[in-house]
Amino acid sequence: MNTIFSKIINREIPANIVYETDSVLAFRDINPQAPTHILIIPKIEIPKVTDIKGSEHAELLGEMYDAANKIAKDEGIAENGFRLVMNCGNNGGQEVYHLHMHLLGGRQMQWPPG
Ligand code: AMP
Repeated sequence: MNTIFSKIINREIPANIVYETDSVLAFRDINPQAPTHILIIPKIEIPKVTDIKGSEHAELLGEMYDAANKIAKDEGIAENGFRLVMNCGNNGGQEVYHLHMHLLGGRQMQWPPG
């Protein structure tokens, strides 16, 4: 699997990167659905939520949540709240098969989602 997100990780295509560690990368979504819309991804290739193994990936997922909290603070949306979304598979609306967490904020979110 070589998705567009692998190309962003490898700097083969540009992205507006806001956060990076050895294992996690975060960049602004190209088609933002909220004033703040950032994608947080692992650098290793995990296609989707159903490929996550707790025993193997627990630390990595913890780092993704740490990233979300730090970015939310930096973006000034931590206090008012935000939404984290991971779409999985066809019915989940997943388009890019490289695990990613959407961080959405800066406006009132609605429920139920579409
Ligand atoms: P999903 O539908 O959950 O798979 O989300 C994929 C997201 O990736 C969408 O919100 C797209 O707008 C976003 N996206 C696709 N290509 C790029 C890109 N080159 N740079 C930033 N975001 C992208």
